[in-house]
Amino acid sequence: MNTKKIEKYLLELGESKFRLDQIKKAVYQDGIIDFAKISTLSKELREKLNSNFKILSAEPIEVLISQKKDSIKALLKLSDGNLIETVLISPKSNVWSACVSCQVGCAVGCSFCATGKIGFKRNLTSEEITDQVLFWKSYLRENNISGNFSNIVYMGMGEPFLNFEEVEKSLKVLISPDFFNFGSRKISVSTSGIMDKLEEFSEKFPQVNLALSLHSANPEKRSQLMPINQKYDLEKIKTELQKYLKKYKRKIFIEYLMIDGVNDGIEDAKILVDYLKLIGFEYLLHVNLIRYNDTNDKYKPSSKNKVKAFEKHLFDQKINVTIRKSLGQDIYAACGQLAGKK
Ligand code: SF4
Repeated sequence: MNTKKIEKYLLELGESKFRLDQIKKAVYQDGIIDFAKISTLSKELREKLNSNFKILSAEPIEVLISQKKDSIKALLKLSDGNLIETVLISPKSNVWSACVSCQVGCAVGCSFCATGKIGFKRNLTSEEITDQVLFWKSYLRENNISGNFSNIVYMGMGEPFLNFEEVEKSLKVLISPDFFNFGSRKISVSTSGIMDKLEEFSEKFPQVNLALSLHSANPEKRSQLMPINQKYDLEKIKTELQKYLKKYKRKIFIEYLMIDGVNDGIEDAKILVDYLKLIGFEYLLHVNLIRYNDTNDKYKPSSKNKVKAFEKHLFDQKINVTIRKSLGQDIYAACGQLAGKK
């Protein structure tokens, strides 16, 4: 919702400032995305607002619900016709977490990623990023789905640190008590390793969680999976993470996709352990192992046994590790899979 434009309009109508507060409460706290349903406003004002503004800057054109009902994916059409994806996930009972996109497509071009194949089209505005959260708030409300919607992850389409200005604005809106009022510690930003922005991000949002997509600690394999590794290599990542850990003493999540025959052997696990120990502060590093979501013919998910063996090796070496559930395989839940099919 573009609050600035609405504020200006209300002033032109001679409405008191309090009206904007009522609208913000209804929209950001209660998840109402139709002016006609904001009962605290007069009927006349609701009608005027409805004929002049839309609360959501994007329109849902497809919503898919996984069989287990633990993941819901929406394809949203932006005002210029571009498509983005956003996913609502329930990692555990009664908890909902939204995964938001920050760009249309992505320039990073990871070889395992459906969004990478679309290529970069444009950055999302802060409003287009936070409207994904608003969409899910209203979706839960309209469908009477209970649970605590408390977590946001920037892990959808795009690389957050390549759209830092708008991501920064969107984080401020998510955290602000005047808007969504999410706790900073409930928000995570995931980067493929654009280390130039880490210092600025951590200074501005020291309480927001950082996740790094690593996927391999072997330089050749990482470059094959993530060509960005040639620019921001493992050595650079190590140095920047060390600075962050030393200064903030905050946990970093290391995301590791498990891809069959590519990065899932015990040798890969050993290289990963060595790398993490080289960074140091192991107690602050937490590896999330995620079975690859089958998006193309090139890569396949690792077997469950291989994931278990990998986890055991890390665990035995005293590395914090969790096997994350890969949710919603039946609804193309990995980023870019649905938009890429349109
Ligand atoms: S995995 Fe993330 S950074 Fe890599 S291409 Fe996909 S969206 Fe971009």
